[in-house]
Amino acid sequence: MSFKNENIEDYKDIWVFCEQRDGKIVDTDIELISEGRKLANERGARLVGLLLGKEGIAEHVKELGGYGADIVYVVEDERLDVYTTDAYTKVICDIIDDKKPEVFLVGASTIGRDLAPRVAARLHTGLCADCTHLDINMEQYSAFLKEASSLNVEGLSLDMEDTNLKMTRPAFGGHMMATIICPRFRPCMATVRPGVLKRGEYDQTAEQKVIVEKLACNLEKEDLRTKVLQVVKETRKMVDLIGAEVIVSVGNGISKDPSLGISLAEELVDALGGGVVGASRAVTDAGWLTADHQVGQTGKTVRPRIYVALGICGAIQHKAGMEDSEVIIAVNNNEDAPIFETADYGLVGDLFEVVPALISELNSAKQ
Ligand SMILES: Cc1cc2nc3c(=O)[nH]c(=O)nc-3n(C[C@H](O)[C@H](O)[C@H](O)COP(=O)(O)OP(=O)(O)OC[C@H]3O[C@@H](n4cnc5c(N)ncnc54)[C@H](O)[C@@H]3O)c2cc1C
Repeated sequence: MSFKNENIEDYKDIWVFCEQRDGKIVDTDIELISEGRKLANERGARLVGLLLGKEGIAEHVKELGGYGADIVYVVEDERLDVYTTDAYTKVICDIIDDKKPEVFLVGASTIGRDLAPRVAARLHTGLCADCTHLDINMEQYSAFLKEASSLNVEGLSLDMEDTNLKMTRPAFGGHMMATIICPRFRPCMATVRPGVLKRGEYDQTAEQKVIVEKLACNLEKEDLRTKVLQVVKETRKMVDLIGAEVIVSVGNGISKDPSLGISLAEELVDALGGGVVGASRAVTDAGWLTADHQVGQTGKTVRPRIYVALGICGAIQHKAGMEDSEVIIAVNNNEDAPIFETADYGLVGDLFEVVPALISELNSAKQ
């Protein structure tokens, strides 16, 4: 395939890869379509969803329309029911070569993290992985810098006419944020972390207006080097951090007695009316809780109503995943712990003493 650095003005529209599992679109698709709508409006472009799956998958396109897609391209084929790198890459690269999108967004799920680099490499274009913020319009981008950075934005000589996608992501282990552009190649590709972007309002009229176009599947036998024999699902139920209203997370502060620390967190969750237990990376690395509990830069990004941090120091990589929570309560025996800079309520003390007292207060208040 040729490099996409000639006639880049031929590349138009904002595209979103709409991932499906078991024939159902995933939550990240809605977050990406909502964000894609915003970007398409900024660019004066159309928002296009790309959905691959088996026969019948097209029935989901109305929902994508309701969240803002103008067009959804659908490729239906039995060989696209379960994701495989080679089949999806081939089909997507051929469509991109033909239709020429300016921007191609992919969710940073396990599938997206596998697919996006392969597609980018084959198309010879740039990919910015794990983005947490996207802009096209320079006014919007400057407003974001003013709000979210310590830069003197007025003092910067920004090109206010720039229409490249600005892709912002944590860099250097979360110690700084970097904004990356891809000015010479198209499409400009980004993966976005699940849970970071907000879903927009559902629009019933837009649902009716979405255009669905079915595209042919051009896979040949020699394109497929892998065959899925069987899909074995993990029987253990994964913790649903992203959907939880209340999260009580434990950190290395439970190291004196990890199982007691975890059961105290579970009891506190119940006392707060139900939710889930999360963890810092120190806890998942130690194997006290499984990786699906991890909150932070390399874990999940959460925005619950109540986030309680028990024995968590508040490293920047942890904060990156929870600082947008509505109310943050921290318990730590070190009054100088950085978590207190982010917390709305802070309790200085030993969590093994503070948490039982909290639970009993909450339970008696309920009675
Ligand atoms: C590239 C990269 C990505 C990372 N991604 C993540 C991520 O996604 N999520 C994440 O969490 N981390 C992540 N980390 C690790 C992060 O930098 C920290 O090392 C980690 O968050 C520390 O976990 P902690 O706060 O539980 O442990 P510690 O740093 O050991 O802090 C424990 C805290 O508990 C307090 N404490 C101790 N005993 C008690 C007690 N009895 N009662 C009350 N308080 C007590 C201590 O004062 C301390 O503040 C990442 C690091 C890197 C480099």
